[in-house]
Amino acid sequence: MTWDFSTEPEFEKKLEWMRTFVKEEVYPLEVLDADEAGFRRVIRSLQDEVKSQKLWATHLPPELGGQGYGQVKLGLMHEIEGATMWAPIVFGNQAPDSGNSEVLAHFGTQAQKDRWLYPLLDGRLRSAFSMTEPFTAGSDPTLLSSTARLEGDEWVINGHKWFTSNGMIADFLIAMLVTEPDAGPYERASMIIVPSDAPGLKRLRNIPTMAGESERFGYGHAEILYENVRVPAANLLGKRGQGFLIAQARLGPGRIHHCMRWLGLARRAFDMLCERALQREAFGKKLASHETVQNWIADSAAEMSAARLMTLHAAWVIDTQGAAAARKEISLIKFFGAKVLHDVIDRALQIHGSLGYSGDLPLEDMYRLARGARFYDGPDEVHRVSVARQILSGYKEPQGKWPGEHIPTRREAAQRKFAALLEAATTDV
Ligand SMILES: Cc1cc2nc3c(=O)[nH]c(=O)nc-3n(C[C@H](O)[C@H](O)[C@H](O)COP(=O)(O)OP(=O)(O)OC[C@H]3O[C@@H](n4cnc5c(N)ncnc54)[C@H](O)[C@@H]3O)c2cc1C
Repeated sequence: MTWDFSTEPEFEKKLEWMRTFVKEEVYPLEVLDADEAGFRRVIRSLQDEVKSQKLWATHLPPELGGQGYGQVKLGLMHEIEGATMWAPIVFGNQAPDSGNSEVLAHFGTQAQKDRWLYPLLDGRLRSAFSMTEPFTAGSDPTLLSSTARLEGDEWVINGHKWFTSNGMIADFLIAMLVTEPDAGPYERASMIIVPSDAPGLKRLRNIPTMAGESERFGYGHAEILYENVRVPAANLLGKRGQGFLIAQARLGPGRIHHCMRWLGLARRAFDMLCERALQREAFGKKLASHETVQNWIADSAAEMSAARLMTLHAAWVIDTQGAAAARKEISLIKFFGAKVLHDVIDRALQIHGSLGYSGDLPLEDMYRLARGARFYDGPDEVHRVSVARQILSGYKEPQGKWPGEHIPTRREAAQRKFAALLEAATTDV
């Protein structure tokens, strides 16, 4: 029997340390009034503490300075980090740097690792991932239109990207570009490293979004023009036309991390929901004694528990069978987890009334962040379609005109199957 829901005691101790550290040291960053230099000094001192606990950049294998924990353990860590937007930065595995470092670790040449990966892991460089475009549907990246053409020993890049997270502050970008226009839809694109000081790279702006104020110090989602940007041919990641293959390797585990982080955030909102239920009184009794509120608490607990088990299961499939084997599980949690996140925050906001709607509590900020979860890294609809297709591929159309479970047809078959025995019974009587 191999089912096991326990956490190794040694690892549980690390998680316990993280819970206390995140709550006591990282939560205050959300409300700290500091200039960027001061803020960075505080972050750096917290990062040093994380490094001394050997919990820095744990998504990477040991040969690259990570702990090589695998997705289940990483998931449990991300659950704790997700409660506040600053924790992933303090732990060295924030998106998009974590995904980019995985790509560099797995597909980069030694020279690319020396130039980009190790400084990124050290926190000396920052990165961005530049795929989505304003004028083609990001949910169908076979439509990408930005191009890179090889001229001598340089790529010449032209295109228009947006929602490149941290694009304004990144030292380099990994751009997804069409290099093989005549190839099949999934072999047309490649990933290319673009230094942010490459001539022709125009970082236009951080796009104003629903997230608003929480995007401080240049963090945010950039609109970028690539106008005859030239980078060395050696900046290609992997082989020509491997962009989709690399993107799949990058996005699978990344979605587990997202979903676990959402659970951490949902849990924080849920705690607020329960506390307020015990604090506030209306119509002669505490809100906690009203049946609707009890339903919210029970529904939220059930939904978070379901999402957590589904996400850890998807992580376990990746750990034991690889990311490709977990495609269905990853799609399931991506749309289900986003809904759970939204619904739990929504109930927590509702129970706080106007206080929940105000900027005096973090709920309105969480609510706005939660909205994006329904489409970044693939909209709900696309993941649902993917899940349904995979499930349907395991079924066959029933033979005949009636459904397989049609009772009169089954009764007839059952009569035939047991006819001899039924006959014998009649004779016995
Ligand atoms: C906070 C945030 C951070 C992001 N960070 C990055 C980043 O770092 N790098 C990057 O490259 N991109 C990033 N993105 C962009 C994100 O990945 C895209 O928004 C996403 O892929 C969807 O693409 P789109 O916006 O072009 O929407 P579209 O592809 O135009 O889709 C719009 C809508 O069409 C509907 N739709 C699409 N396909 C189907 C279907 N098959 N069936 C039914 N309905 C469908 C869905 O409702 C979908 O929401 C980020 C976005 C956000 C919000």
